[in-house]
Amino acid sequence: MIFEKVLEIYQKYYICVHCLGRMFSLLGTCTTNYERGNSLLLSITMENHRKYLSRKEDLQKKAIANLKTLAENAHFNPAQQVLNNEGLEHVKNESNKICFLCNNIFSNIENYINNVKLKVEEIEFSSFLVGSKPQSYIINQEDNFKTEFGLLEAESFKSHFNRVVGKELLSCLKRIPEFNHPDVLIIYSFDFESFDVELILKSLFIYGKYNKLIRGIPQTHWFCGKCRGTGCKFCNYTGKQYQISVEDLISPVFNKESKSSDSKFHGAGREDIDVKMLGTGRPFILELRNPKIRTLDLVKIEKIVNKTNKNKVRIFDLRYSSKNEVIKLKYEAKNTRKVYRAIVNSESKIKKDEFDNKVIILKKTFEYQEIRQRTPHRVSHRRSDKVREKSIYRIEGKFVKPNLFEFKIETQGGTYIKELINGDEGRTSPSFSEIFKTPLKCKELDVLEISV
Ligand SMILES: [Zn+2]
Ligand SMILES: [Zn+2]
Repeated sequence: MIFEKVLEIYQKYYICVHCLGRMFSLLGTCTTNYERGNSLLLSITMENHRKYLSRKEDLQKKAIANLKTLAENAHFNPAQQVLNNEGLEHVKNESNKICFLCNNIFSNIENYINNVKLKVEEIEFSSFLVGSKPQSYIINQEDNFKTEFGLLEAESFKSHFNRVVGKELLSCLKRIPEFNHPDVLIIYSFDFESFDVELILKSLFIYGKYNKLIRGIPQTHWFCGKCRGTGCKFCNYTGKQYQISVEDLISPVFNKESKSSDSKFHGAGREDIDVKMLGTGRPFILELRNPKIRTLDLVKIEKIVNKTNKNKVRIFDLRYSSKNEVIKLKYEAKNTRKVYRAIVNSESKIKKDEFDNKVIILKKTFEYQEIRQRTPHRVSHRRSDKVREKSIYRIEGKFVKPNLFEFKIETQGGTYIKELINGDEGRTSPSFSEIFKTPLKCKELDVLEISV
């Protein structure tokens, strides 16, 4: 019987009306835990009032005891009034009672709301979700309590808290709750004495393409190999292996405009440090973490980045993107086609006729063929040693001087072009050097085009 159980509880503990309703939350629907708790106390009061009025002595005695439990232990006003009206004495305890289960957290929920209201004032968001991390003793104590009284229909502390706070925030923030990918995740961690709020802001993703117009800078921030970023003699206490990167030139403007904590640069593949990225550009997605601003003036940002980095880096085609597109970008990078321009030195001098003949052989050997490339010497320290098959699509050659040529090479993404030319001591075969029967060396390399 529910009524007996409630009286049994109040003979031993004080719990607030919210928590009382919560303990029977799965029973009865379409109401709040507070109303549920209040209805229970009122019904029990009414039932015992009826028994008292019945004038049967044995019933009356029990009824008075129950009404006293409700008046004194549950602090229930209607029960107090019934006793007053009937001229029955009871202890008037005016001091505020503290709920055994929630320490009156659920009666002071506005504290939790007001704190967040202040915190989100400077943040742009359209959806949110509330989460909570109560200290484990709160949960353990409640579990023991449920066991003691055999309460099987209770709603958990967390679930009640998240729902009640979420509902309040919904009405005062005028933003929608979103369960899967909220703009703001509001996490309360608390014990009975105090609480903390952490706001986790969903990353903002911006897609774009970049040109790298100079040689000698890596695509992404590159930590010093000796100290891994903490700063040492070797890197002149900067923590960096290279002082700037494409990422370092592009991301600060985005970080500033979105008021992000930091960012991560996702490129669709990468070119070597000494390779320019020209032509149609390389796609990238910038992940802005914890952004306080989500609506960016991308046209303005593009202008600032391009003006500040004139003749170094250029960005264009900016638009909003998503986490899913990052995965797609990384995946598709393997299957892109790339057009390179290579300036090549030859160890021995070659006449123009001879060069033209060699280009014909190059075309026959490579165009629409697959080559086998073993992991190059120069990257073998960071890449596993294996043989990769790569497709070469198109080759054009231009004679500049007897020991200087220019090639345009279209290949599958991930082909090592420098090794395709020099052969990498037989690790890439066939190679341009093999065909020319003299060592060739790639002096300059540019990426002209990337396409899917
Ligand atoms: Zn409570
Ligand atoms: Zn260092």
